[in-house]
Amino acid sequence: MAAHLRLRGALSLVTGGGSGIGRAICVRLAQEGAVVAIADCDEVGAAKTLQGLPPGDHEALPVDVGCAKSVGDLVARIQARYSRPATVCVNCAGITMDEFLLKQSEEAFDAVLRVNLKGTFLVTQAVARALVASNAPGGSIINMGSVVGKVGNLGQVNYAASKAGVEALSKTAAKELARYNIRCNTILPGFIRSPMTDKVPQKVLDKFAAMVPLGRLGEPEDVADVCAFLASEDSRYITGASVEVTGGLFI
Ligand code: NAD
Repeated sequence: MAAHLRLRGALSLVTGGGSGIGRAICVRLAQEGAVVAIADCDEVGAAKTLQGLPPGDHEALPVDVGCAKSVGDLVARIQARYSRPATVCVNCAGITMDEFLLKQSEEAFDAVLRVNLKGTFLVTQAVARALVASNAPGGSIINMGSVVGKVGNLGQVNYAASKAGVEALSKTAAKELARYNIRCNTILPGFIRSPMTDKVPQKVLDKFAAMVPLGRLGEPEDVADVCAFLASEDSRYITGASVEVTGGLFI
């Protein structure tokens, strides 16, 4: 539970806010006093997240992060609704389409890169443009990578490549945007319980849980707490960093 309101009044945009880790991030940011724009292609999921937030001027908005027009519309709607750009942006929308390299289709590769990597690019670019245009005093962009982007994972050639790309994108954005006092960091979760990992066979989850030094799989709240720190001024001298939230897996 948040002990203080580090994000009082900060307007934050969370993509993928309609489920799992993104939903926990929306809750945590709102607990810290932020106003949250919950963006997801699953409008039912986003509305459910909205219902669970502490009181505030929050809104659920539809977006397909892989489509530049849709992302442009989202940022324009936020500007029109709140008369200011989001100063905290969390890119959490993501998908998996797992298959071994030898069997992976071009379609599955393209689809995962489109959401995870291109989606992060489009939202980061649109939010940064809005911040620079508004002369806002700064901002914090937090991108969801994965430890799998560092070490690879069986059956996830597309996903691992997309998440390695997210990390490189974030470091480059950090270098380019620092002059505007916009920070950009990546969180690298390990295995976190969510609808995404519900698709993973139990025996695989058990295998990974046994490998985690802290002895358990992660919960969405474990990631959300780190996200709130990176969103807040407590991390004001951190940019271009990748923070592993893995319970020690793969160290
Ligand atoms: P999830 O499936 O519960 O949530 C993903 C959300 O993204 C869903 O609400 C979905 O509707 C949304 N989404 C998918 N495509 C979209 C699009 N084109 N436009 C807008 N929204 C879209 O998964 P999760 O476990 O909460 O994962 C959240 C993020 O964390 C993802 O980027 C994922 O890759 C990353 N991650 C998860 C784990 C884990 O173990 N769960 C580990 C490492 C990284």
